[in-house]
Amino acid sequence: MKQRLQAVMERIRQACERSGRDPQSVRLVAVSKTMPAERVRRAVAAGVRILGENYVQEARDKYAQLADLSVSWHFIGHLQTNKAKYVVRMFDLVHSIDSLKLARELDRQAARRERVQPVLIQVNISREESKSGVATEQIEPLVREVAVLEHLELQGLMTMPPFFDQPERTRPYFRELAELARRIESLNIPRVSMKELSMGMSGDFEVAIEEGATLVRVGTAIFGARR
Ligand SMILES: *Cc1c(COP(=O)(O)O)cnc(C)c1O
Repeated sequence: MKQRLQAVMERIRQACERSGRDPQSVRLVAVSKTMPAERVRRAVAAGVRILGENYVQEARDKYAQLADLSVSWHFIGHLQTNKAKYVVRMFDLVHSIDSLKLARELDRQAARRERVQPVLIQVNISREESKSGVATEQIEPLVREVAVLEHLELQGLMTMPPFFDQPERTRPYFRELAELARRIESLNIPRVSMKELSMGMSGDFEVAIEEGATLVRVGTAIFGARR
């Protein structure tokens, strides 16, 4: 695993070099869903700084087992409103806000804990029905509504393009997310930042970096295939 992790880090560095970006501007989220706690522990020992989890219950179990580690946890899966209460304490960033209802509930839970929860909005750029996320034309109104929720801090956008065998084919989706973020940024909405772009997975993270990703979510390339 250490070798695979180092190979991914090296590919991130090279993608940054190719596109004239500072390697410090891209953070690796190691997606540890379905991986047992002991494997996750080894990944952290090997240099992982951020873990990405998709399922609340699974993440809670691992979080309890790995409480001694100094590592940041990000929530990247679809979040049900009734689970929002578990997320606030545990995750430094929620990548997957996909409705105003969820945003309001997360804000309420963060308020109860006197916290400000950093979040990203998930955009369904490809309009696939099977994917969660908000359609591109609904982003601006949602951003304006999330902006006024005092216990959320909107930091950017996330997307998941369709799966392609050739990574190059994901490029238009990543480019569109980056353009959307620039457009939202130019509106100068108070309390809204678009500094984070969460895009790119094992098959296509280099393309995503070339198009401006600041967070890449990589599972298989680090941990091997999931069962
Ligand atoms: C599983 C998952 C990933 C990681 O996918 P890999 O192809 O294993 O790198 C990234 N993002 C999300 C939202 C995921 O659910």
